[in-house]
Amino acid sequence: MLNERMVGLGTQRSVIRELFEFGKQRAAEIGAENVFDFSIGNPSVPAPDDVNETAIRLLNEVDPVILHGYTSAQGDAGVRQMISDSINSRFGTSFGPDNLYVTVGAAAALCCCLNGLCNPGDEVVVFAPYFPEYKVFIEGAGASMTLIPADIEAFQINFEAFEAALNANTKAVIINSPNNPSGAVYSEETIQRLASILTAKSAQYGHPIYLITDEPYREIVFGGTVVPYVPKYYKNTLVCYSWSKSLSLPGERMGYIVVPDEMDEHELVYAAIAGAGRSLGYVNAPGLFQRVCAMCADMTADTSVYETNKNILMQGLRDLGFHVVEPGGTFYMFPRTLEEDDVAFCERAKEYNLLIVPGVGFGCPGHTRISYCVQTEMVKRSLDAFEKLAKSYR
Ligand code: PLP
Repeated sequence: MLNERMVGLGTQRSVIRELFEFGKQRAAEIGAENVFDFSIGNPSVPAPDDVNETAIRLLNEVDPVILHGYTSAQGDAGVRQMISDSINSRFGTSFGPDNLYVTVGAAAALCCCLNGLCNPGDEVVVFAPYFPEYKVFIEGAGASMTLIPADIEAFQINFEAFEAALNANTKAVIINSPNNPSGAVYSEETIQRLASILTAKSAQYGHPIYLITDEPYREIVFGGTVVPYVPKYYKNTLVCYSWSKSLSLPGERMGYIVVPDEMDEHELVYAAIAGAGRSLGYVNAPGLFQRVCAMCADMTADTSVYETNKNILMQGLRDLGFHVVEPGGTFYMFPRTLEEDDVAFCERAKEYNLLIVPGVGFGCPGHTRISYCVQTEMVKRSLDAFEKLAKSYR
């Protein structure tokens, strides 16, 4: 008999994948220019030229036996030094290479943290709206997910529900700011309040509640929005970072975990993360791109188009009567749907060739996720289709 959970994960196509396939089929029927595919969060801008140039230089100049060889499981020591230098210069921290564990993207960073921390019976708190893979990762680590309903006014944290959900089994809390799918950025006040609750509850239960901050969108922010650097507010913080979005390198699978010295038993936590990476069979993150990302760690792709798209789309939707909380970053927005049933709303949107994702899968029904990492010209043309959709509700 096979592992039923794995068969289920391997056979259920996600709603986003279904939409993507539908979009391809529609494009063949009516032309790609008539399909407005806002379903997938795949960066639409290229990596900076420096990324290719660095890769080529490394390929030409470094001994291939070293370049293509295994690295230390936690990442090449020089790579970890460069990454920690970059973090320190940007956030005023004082990390060293031993605070860094290099991973196969943010997904692996999250899995290493969760598997390193959790025992059966542990609970991990997640705030709606949330990245649906969290549930897969948490359950894969043998823990269970506790979902906190959304604060739909601002997409900050619903603190009352949060405090009520904490208990002696709470092992960790995951936050994601800037957020997929809402685009919200947690304010400093939100982080401070979260930190003070976690400090008090850790003391009450006699064990640390870890804060895992998932930050692939940290650099994609609009209008000078500041994203607080979470370890400065709460010592038991694990940062999960990725270059998938900031450098437009999702296929290269590169990220890292920060384990601060200030964390309780930080050496044991680091060892548990390394143990999890070993047990999950990651071995080490890709060697060539460890070096490329470390050498390009202070750069980002030119992500300015996302802000342009956000402005056009948000104004266009508001003019049509949609309720949209302004995103502080990412390339997503999460308006309210024009009927309560977000699945029915997104089905109706398909009639106008608008591919948008129901909020229910993100734990927040009554909303829809629009991924605007697309050409600006398509965003402009899509406004007619949104208008027809809105009119169909009048
Ligand atoms: N976390 C969030 C919130 C994401 O949106 C994504 C990818 O879309 C990931 C994690 C996974 O990122 P990576 O490609 O680095 O594994």
